[in-house]
Amino acid sequence: MMHAPSSSPPGYPVLIVEDNPPLCRLLQETLGEAGHASVCVGSGPQALAQLEGEYFPIVVTDLAIPGMDGLDLCRTIRARFQNHYIYIIVLTARDSQEDLLEGLEAGADEYLVKPVGAAELRARLKIARRILALEQSLKKSLEEFKSLSVIDALTGFFNRRYLVEHLPQEIKRAVRYGRPLSILLFDFDHFKDVNDRFGHLVGDEVLRQCASCVGEALRQDLDWAVRYGGEEFLVVLPETPLEGALVVAERLRRCFAERDILTTAGALRVTASFGVASLPRMAPQQRLPMETLIECADRRLYEAKSEGRNCIKGHQL
Ligand code: GH3
Ligand code: MG
Ligand code: MG
Ligand code: MG
Repeated sequence: MMHAPSSSPPGYPVLIVEDNPPLCRLLQETLGEAGHASVCVGSGPQALAQLEGEYFPIVVTDLAIPGMDGLDLCRTIRARFQNHYIYIIVLTARDSQEDLLEGLEAGADEYLVKPVGAAELRARLKIARRILALEQSLKKSLEEFKSLSVIDALTGFFNRRYLVEHLPQEIKRAVRYGRPLSILLFDFDHFKDVNDRFGHLVGDEVLRQCASCVGEALRQDLDWAVRYGGEEFLVVLPETPLEGALVVAERLRRCFAERDILTTAGALRVTASFGVASLPRMAPQQRLPMETLIECADRRLYEAKSEGRNCIKGHQL
């Protein structure tokens, strides 16, 4: 029977802070055997300089080091490097209970009294890897959770949380640099009828397909779309004046109106009404709340609905 190769543990790079060169070499050898590349420095300030330039997930430090007490080094690392966890192993000749407590209090994860055998050091490194791997997996989950928390599940567009976090910045940037910016607000026409006639699931399918149509019509990396309400969407068009936004809206309007949407209930067509709003000319220090721009688009959308739907109304503030 074949066995899958056991996945080797990540060999986190180690920073050794030790002013005794033979000991340093010995440590590097043991670390190397355990799969860890290492860098050795001889003083506290050098250690901090290394950590400023590069992330070392594990630091093995002596306490009697030049330039700075090892305990101060531990405290400084804890205070200064908080983005990623640094697992600190203190390796020292100071062997009293008081020293141990002081070391742990200063921020050490392990306090080992010299001489420490290679087997024990390897075992301690294993603990470090376990803690660091745990931190990594938590961070990964958090990142995934964060990105999902701004995405609408049905359409894959952003949700209102993202809008509230990002539209004010887009507006601020556009105003500061005197750049144009427009938004489109659109709402599907008589969408309640689609649900009533074909069922909510078919309605959902229509929304999903229309959303992919919107995705294709936008400039990647620049434009972005938000599911603003049930079947109401908002598109942000940076660097786009009113005329350009009207062109995009017309492209979308036609895309919806002329496209057969294939659903389990057969081919359907839907139309949408559009309200477009663009930033006014403003002095760089002026402000425009996001709500003012959205209200303007909403009023135009309402006009488009009252003038018969499947049309576009736009306005520059
Ligand atoms: P109007 O042309 O005036 O917009 O008519 P409408 O029927 O589209 O009216 P309105 O926009 O007020 O109502 C939206 C309807 O869209 C209500 C609801 O049945 C449907 N809807 C909203 N969100 C969803 C959704 O996520 N999935 C489905 N299938 N239907 C939705
Ligand atoms: Mg020393
Ligand atoms: Mg509607
Ligand atoms: Mg609606």
